[in-house]
Amino acid sequence: MGKASRDKRDIYYRKAKEEGWRARSAFKLLQIDEEFNIFEGVKRVVDLCAAPGSWSQVLSRKLYLPAKLSPDSKDSDLPLIVAIDLQPMAPIEGVIQVQGDITNARTAETVIRHFDGGKADLVVCDGAPDVTGLHDMDEFVQSQLILALKLFFTEVTFAKPKSSRNSSIEAFVVCENYSPPEGFNEKDLHRLLEKIGSPSGADDLDCSSGWLEGPNKVYIPFLACGDLNGYDSDRSYPLPKSADGSYQSLDPVQPPIAPPYKRALEMKKASSHGTQGLEKLSLDP
Ligand code: SAM
Repeated sequence: MGKASRDKRDIYYRKAKEEGWRARSAFKLLQIDEEFNIFEGVKRVVDLCAAPGSWSQVLSRKLYLPAKLSPDSKDSDLPLIVAIDLQPMAPIEGVIQVQGDITNARTAETVIRHFDGGKADLVVCDGAPDVTGLHDMDEFVQSQLILALKLFFTEVTFAKPKSSRNSSIEAFVVCENYSPPEGFNEKDLHRLLEKIGSPSGADDLDCSSGWLEGPNKVYIPFLACGDLNGYDSDRSYPLPKSADGSYQSLDPVQPPIAPPYKRALEMKKASSHGTQGLEKLSLDP
């Protein structure tokens, strides 16, 4: 598929390039913010699973740059933005990068060090849990995850930004008002997480308040967000033409610098040049 064809088919892909975003996902975070005002008063923020960095760009443009450009700004007033990914990403102004696994405790310790021991006001995450492909099991694990989140936050909402295609089941969970159960010790978190995803764990989860049953059954609201008259991500839009009637497709703003598929592409390229290339690649570490 040519770039112009994707520009026509995917309006958010084209708009991302026009507005300088590294990925079309930037619009998802912007539209979630339109609905939930998630950036208000935020001084410390973590972007989990951040590469290639369009959400970090949103954080930089919404939080860091306005603070930096404010006439009476002091260094101590600047928000701290920490972005984590397994992959490296090109630098973004005001964003501290940590290359690591978000499930590793050492990564969390690194973030806390950057915050001088303080807690994050906002955590954004664009990584999806791994799925097994066994739909019943996947659905069960994901609902356990949502229930676990509901233990820690008073408000939990599913959000479907307008830039997320209706044809995709993707949705984001917005959790507000962190209020952990009384006596909860953060060091015990891993014990709770161990229970999530194991069928027997369902009985062990602390549901003692009874909010899962009968009249207390929990319904998580599902909310569409973003201007509902705005661009529809499932529609094709005509391409804007210049005076001579031509259309110039823009290059991506910042392709990933070391994506996991890079080696696969190299191998594919090598195989189209004969097996010698493949043998050479297989000697690489
Ligand atoms: N929000 C990003 C943006 O706007 O550019 C896009 C994120 S992309 C959909 C998902 C990212 O999750 C990938 O870059 C992948 O490397 C990262 N990822 C997956 N599992 C991870 C893990 N355990 N720790 C850190 N990053 C992870």
